[in-house]
Amino acid sequence: RAKNHGRNQFHFYEQEMTAYAFERLELESAVRKALANEEFFLCYQPLIDLGTRRMSGAEVLVRWNHPEQGVLPPARFISLAEDSGLIVPLGEWVLRTACRQLRAWRDDGFDVPRVAVNISVRQLERKGFAALVAAILDECGLPASSLELELTESVLMETEEAFEVLEELDALGVRLSVDDFGTGYSSLSYLKRLPVHTLKIDRSFIMDVAEHGNNQAIVRAMIAMAKTLGLEAVAEGVESAGQAEFLTGEGCDQAQGYLFGKPVPSDAFRLAWAAAEV
Ligand code: C2E
Ligand code: MG
Ligand code: MG
Ligand code: MG
Repeated sequence: RAKNHGRNQFHFYEQEMTAYAFERLELESAVRKALANEEFFLCYQPLIDLGTRRMSGAEVLVRWNHPEQGVLPPARFISLAEDSGLIVPLGEWVLRTACRQLRAWRDDGFDVPRVAVNISVRQLERKGFAALVAAILDECGLPASSLELELTESVLMETEEAFEVLEELDALGVRLSVDDFGTGYSSLSYLKRLPVHTLKIDRSFIMDVAEHGNNQAIVRAMIAMAKTLGLEAVAEGVESAGQAEFLTGEGCDQAQGYLFGKPVPSDAFRLAWAAAEV
């Protein structure tokens, strides 16, 4: 009986898997169509210099305006796009659209210091990624210092090839940041070897930093680590004035979070930030 039971369970599991695979296949073709139909759009979230309290740049966050399901967050489609390889054309679209937006803002007298774009390992692995970045910057008439690329620790740990691409990007003058810092496994010696400029401390460490001593010591150490390595420290997910105060006191360079602004489409970003100080 036990054996039989196990068999049935296996069958059930197999069916679930098939349904799951089918759903992913459907979604995959939907993503492909969405790219062609221009259903993706970008939101921009301010990065704030904690010293001056001025906007120091914008992180670019992609959204999918799905015809039936409404606006979908990246959690619903990025990993799928990564698995299917569609992240390569999607990521290129994000990069080009963000750079064009920055160009348009500047031409219009709105001086956003830089845009920060999230990059997946699949993009980095592609031959000629650094050349693509250089071409897009050139196309938009932007200096490389206007662009920051955000990479997660797992991406950075991946391969020797990835490391070489990072060196090419660094040579271009593009800024590189380690996203979601603290959630991966990078060692101090490894970080020291990487041509990165910024550590973005993950939101999970920032969350209760104002209320509890727990994360205070960790965040303090992370900021100190950034300083030791000659890197800038950025705090993600800052939602309260108390958190911002703590971070400022600890010498954190920049912050990002709902306290300063949620991610919004380009027009709203311009309206909110064209003449603003925090
Ligand atoms: P991330 O790069 O760590 O981006 C920060 C995420 O935290 C964003 O979620 C942002 O909306 C959210 N956030 C910012 N401030 C706060 C806050 O104060 N409180 C809370 N609760 N959340 C805050 P979002 O837009 O849903 O993006 C999720 C992730 O999707 C990003 O995490 C990034 O890893 C990925 N992603 C977004 N756009 C792209 C893209 O164009 N390409 C790739 N490869 N990944 C992307
Ligand atoms: Mg990011
Ligand atoms: Mg992040
Ligand atoms: Mg994060």
